Amino acid sequence: MTFNSPFSYLKHLECSGCHEHFDPRQLQTYCPICQSPLVALYDLETARKQLDREQISRRRQAMWRWHELLPVFDPQNVITLGEGDTPLLTLPHLGAKLGLRHLMLKDESMNPTGSFKARGLSAAISKAKELGVEKVIIPTAGNAGGAMAAYASRAGLKAHIFMPKDTPLANVLESRIAGATVILIDGLISEAAGMAGVKAREEGWFDVSTFKEPYRLEGKKVMGYELTEALGWVLPDVIIYPTGGGTGLVGIWKAIGELEALGWLESRRKPRMIAVQAEGCAPVVRAVERNAPFCDFWVGAETIASGLRVPKSFADQLILKTIRESGGTAVAVSDTAILQAQKELAMMEGVFAAPEGAATLAALATLKERQLIHPDEQILLLNTGTGLKYLEQLH
Ligand SMILES: *Cc1c(COP(=O)(O)O)cnc(C)c1O
Ligand SMILES: [Zn+2]
Repeated sequence: MTFNSPFSYLKHLECSGCHEHFDPRQLQTYCPICQSPLVALYDLETARKQLDREQISRRRQAMWRWHELLPVFDPQNVITLGEGDTPLLTLPHLGAKLGLRHLMLKDESMNPTGSFKARGLSAAISKAKELGVEKVIIPTAGNAGGAMAAYASRAGLKAHIFMPKDTPLANVLESRIAGATVILIDGLISEAAGMAGVKAREEGWFDVSTFKEPYRLEGKKVMGYELTEALGWVLPDVIIYPTGGGTGLVGIWKAIGELEALGWLESRRKPRMIAVQAEGCAPVVRAVERNAPFCDFWVGAETIASGLRVPKSFADQLILKTIRESGGTAVAVSDTAILQAQKELAMMEGVFAAPEGAATLAALATLKERQLIHPDEQILLLNTGTGLKYLEQLH
C-alpha cells in the first residue's frame, strides 16, 4: 500500500435503476425513489494509480486482503472468520467423461459456516457494525441465516432469522447455537421476506435481505477477484453459477468490471455468465427464454436445492443484465439430475457439494447438447456450499 492510500476506496452508492447517488457513510437499504438495489462504487481511477495487484496477492490469505475494494472504512470494524480464498480445483475425471478439456470448480464449501454466504454476511455485518446497527433481521432459504447468525454474534449484534419450516435442519441449528432467534414460517422465502420486512419496519431492525442492503454483493464479488488472480489475471470462457437471489452472479460480473477499470486483466476475454436454476423454480430461465427485462414471480416453487428456491429475486433486472451483457444464458435442471451430479462429484472428484453446487455440473449435459459450451473452453463451476448441511436429503 502506498503511504497515503485509504483502507477503502468506496466513493458512493449508486442506484442500479435511476442512477441516483447515496452516501455510504449513512445506513442505506435500497433506492427510495425507484426501489432498485444500490451498488457500491469505488474511486477506481485513484486506486489504479496507488494500488498494486501483486501487493494484494502477497497479503495474508482471506477475503479482506482486498479491503481497498471493499466497503468498510475503519479496519476495526472488519468482522471476519477467515472467509474467502477457497480452492480452485481441476475436475480431470468429470472433464474426461464429459469431453471438456478444461473443467474447473471453485469450492466455496470451505468457507466458515460451510457456504459462500459467509462472504456476503462478513461484508454486510461489518458495514452494519460500522454504521452503528445493533439488531439485524434476515429472511433466508437457509445458508444466509447460518452465516448471519455467526457474523452477528461475533460483531455483538442481535440476529433475527425468518426461514421456511422445511429449510435443512443444519441451517436452523447453526443459527440457534450462535444465539439468533429463528422463526420458522409456513411458506417460501418470499413470504419470509414479507414478514421480515414488516418486522424490520415495526422494530427498527436492519434488514439484511439479498440486495435490500448494498454490501452482501461486495463480499460475494471477491469470488471474481480470486478466480481471476488464480488463473493468472486471465478470465475463463464460461462461469456457471447456481442462481437464487443472484448475488454471486452479479457480484462476479461487477468484480470483472472493476478489475478491468483497474487495468489488472491480462486479456480482454470476459466469461459468458451462465445461471443454473432448478426446474421447479426457474424464473430467470423463463425470463431469458422470453427475452424479458425482468422475471415473473414463480408460483409453487419446489426443489431440494433450497438456495435456489427463490420465486423472484429483488435483483432480477441485474441478473438478466449480467447474463445479456456477458453473452451468457440460463438453464434449468431437475432435482433427479442434481442428486445424480452430487453423487458423481463426490465419487469421481472427492467433492461433497451442496445440491445448488451440484446443479452446475448437472447443467453441463444440457449446455453441451445445445452447443452453448465447447470442448476446448475453460469452464468454471461454482460449488456454493457443502453437502454436509443437507444430509437429510440423502437418506
Ligand atoms: C444462497 C445460495 C445460492 C444462491 O446464491 P445467490 O447468490 O442468492 O444466487 C446457491 N447455493 C447455495 C448453497 C446457497 O446457499
Ligand atoms: Zn433508484
